[in-house]
Amino acid sequence: MNHPKGSAAYAESVMETVISRNPQEGEFIQAVREVVDSVSIVIDKHPELVRGRILERLVEPERQIMFRVPWTDDKGAVQVNRGFRVQFNSAIGPYKGGLRFHPSVYLGIIKFLGFEQIFKNALTTTPIGGGKGGSDFDPKGKSDAEVMRFCQSFMSELFRHLGPDVDVPAGDIGVGDREIGYLFGQYKKLTNTFSGVLTGKGADWGGSLVRTEATGYGLVYFVSHFLAERGMSWEGLKVVVSGSGNVAIHAAEKAQQLGAKVVALSDSNGYVLDEEGIKLDTVKRLKEVQRKRIKEYAAQHSSAVYDETRGGIWTVPCDVALPCATQNEIDEAAARTLLKNGCKAVGEGANMPSTPEAIAVFLDGGVSFGPAKAANAGGVAVSALEMTQNSMRLNWTFEEVDSRLQGIMKSIYDQCVSVADECGRPGNLVIGANVAGFMKVANAMMAQGVV
Ligand code: NDP
Repeated sequence: MNHPKGSAAYAESVMETVISRNPQEGEFIQAVREVVDSVSIVIDKHPELVRGRILERLVEPERQIMFRVPWTDDKGAVQVNRGFRVQFNSAIGPYKGGLRFHPSVYLGIIKFLGFEQIFKNALTTTPIGGGKGGSDFDPKGKSDAEVMRFCQSFMSELFRHLGPDVDVPAGDIGVGDREIGYLFGQYKKLTNTFSGVLTGKGADWGGSLVRTEATGYGLVYFVSHFLAERGMSWEGLKVVVSGSGNVAIHAAEKAQQLGAKVVALSDSNGYVLDEEGIKLDTVKRLKEVQRKRIKEYAAQHSSAVYDETRGGIWTVPCDVALPCATQNEIDEAAARTLLKNGCKAVGEGANMPSTPEAIAVFLDGGVSFGPAKAANAGGVAVSALEMTQNSMRLNWTFEEVDSRLQGIMKSIYDQCVSVADECGRPGNLVIGANVAGFMKVANAMMAQGVV
């Protein structure tokens, strides 16, 4: 450590620069602060990383691309959205991270997600760097033809920045099978190549089995390890899952397969509570086929009630909470309510769903807490396996990919536990995940010189 006032002052000086350079980007600042605070615990032992200004380099994306996305709606009116791709860090592999289509998207959201992705991808043990992209386009309420025209326009600019060894996007909020299909089709047409440039592709055209399920299944595999640590299994546990999209549905599915009772799911309007256990067939039909709201579930099951109280899902008593919707959906008050109601474990399926204050409540209250970068890394891990299969021109079976996913989640858990121990913070997987991910990327950056 060569900062005159020590590691805390060094961390603060890094944060001051981040805040002054990105003053409007609250989510990005929040994500950086968590990593910088964790890393400051070990930075004393690594003066070479301070001299190499690794933290200062890490918080600056390697490249940020913003572009106009004009398209025509079904009425013939021209619409204009904004597109983003942040290529954050390529120290350990090509940029990798999803695309988010949601009206709340702006540069700060994409940068927070891209920054998180660097460390998450490092934890997976696969060779992928960190990136993220998206648009403020809202696919909700749009026809398939409108979504297709938007995706084609989006890819008409983005394609020049991608490549199977350069940058490989995938899905995120608002980008599922349909959108990946349209994006891939346009990339293929523009470049006249059939390559593994996107992951989450259909199983018949280069996709990997288990990719659809991977984030939710991986989350449940990860949480299984810390439940075991407490002498518990999923059998008979009451589980609350927020969201009702890709991650939520598959987390609920795996938890149910392992014997848990999932009693609640939500969307941005409200949540459904079904004390008899959520029937996932209904949810899949409503959300994946009919593209309807979660409210419809209560209309179809008399055992269920629907409630529109904001954040109300966290008042449902549960043993395990799996936030799988969006950032900052659990604040301090919600965390206290969960704790008071007996919640023993929280696994983050969404990215940064708990505020820093909520995380402090969980850690201080003895709740086993799986942070997003570790707990939801199963999605990108299977994306990396999809890239491997594409390169090899091979398709692995469902069982083979699922077994690799389980192995990767175990390895991520083990890394987090052992690094937390080494940092003198046993059981603190936030510090474990941040420091383990950081050290891998930092060492690669040092080896590659000042670039
Ligand atoms: P989907 O678009 O499939 O689903 C998102 C779900 O979250 C929807 O039910 C949506 O409801 C709900 N939601 C979105 N915004 C809000 C909000 N402000 N308040 C309450 N609910 C909200 O996205 P995914 O399931 O793919 O992604 C969910 C989370 O998981 C995100 O944080 C994403 O970054 C993260 N993630 C996803 C991965 C993946 O592989 N897909 C990988 C790793 C992390 P509504 O329909 O009303 O908008």
